[in-house]
Amino acid sequence: MKAKQLFYTLALGVFLFSACNPASDKKVNEWAIALHGGAGAMSPENYTPEQIQQYEAELTAAIELGAEILKQGGTSLDAVEQVVRYLEDCPLFNAGRGAVFTNDGKNELDAAIMNGADLQAGAVAGVGDIKNPITAARMVMEKSEHVLMVGKGASLFASQNGAEVIDSSYFYTERSYRALQRALERDKKMGTVGCVALDKHGNLAAATSTGGMTNKRYGRVGDVPIIGAGTYANNNTCAVSATGHGEYFIRYTVAHDISALMEYKGLSLAKAADEVIHKKLEEVDGRGGIISVDKWGNVHLSFNTSGMFRAFATSGGDRGVNIFN
Ligand code: ASP
Repeated sequence: MKAKQLFYTLALGVFLFSACNPASDKKVNEWAIALHGGAGAMSPENYTPEQIQQYEAELTAAIELGAEILKQGGTSLDAVEQVVRYLEDCPLFNAGRGAVFTNDGKNELDAAIMNGADLQAGAVAGVGDIKNPITAARMVMEKSEHVLMVGKGASLFASQNGAEVIDSSYFYTERSYRALQRALERDKKMGTVGCVALDKHGNLAAATSTGGMTNKRYGRVGDVPIIGAGTYANNNTCAVSATGHGEYFIRYTVAHDISALMEYKGLSLAKAADEVIHKKLEEVDGRGGIISVDKWGNVHLSFNTSGMFRAFATSGGDRGVNIFN
């Protein structure tokens, strides 16, 4: 009899514990990370096999860099910053070194980072002489009382805090220059980099960095540095980094909308993201995509273009590197 009573007491204890801690039994990965290198109308015919290999190699190196940080118990904030720095230094992507040109042949870069643990965020917009805008964004978050700084003020603040300043000729790549020439003839090109991560401590973070849209008017700011539009992280829900036609992502507050659908409607990450990317945005022809990780370590990548440079890795051993749909 006593053994039976003990059994029932234990069973009730287990039931009450899991009922009170619904998050604990939904956890699918101790850590998880995803990145993107821009979305757009891309098809395999437009790339040589060597180019595809090159992109895949860079995406793989970047995701492995972030995965290693998380595996070692590092923070999601460090992981997303380091991954985005890596992609900013790679001329293949439209961020940092490979940033596209404005209509008047200059480079104006935007970046943002957000910490899901305390909703702290930092962003810079329209900077033209900072080598790694994502690090400048983190400085705004950690070393100022502000969230968003622009232009010369942002550059001065970042350089005073030790960010590497470069001559704007650093951003000149043949590829971006040709993209501007094509865009001037009406073939708009998109591309951006971003990373989201959940660390072993249960914290989410998101980071995004871009040169913006080729041929944009000078002074134009896109969705990337707008918290809730192109970048968002909240430990209660998910971390999101977006890429695509920024004006739509601002108007539809895409990243926050996904989080809000999870928080207020109880949708899963996949349902929430697909609702926004495939229903809300597609209806108005807003093109682009997002990468996301939720607080349980689920990864979801969603885009309504024909391609998105992307990669992910989880503690469970899942890995993926893809370009086309
Ligand atoms: N979303 C970026 C912007 O509008 C561009 C991109 O992701 O391709 O500035």
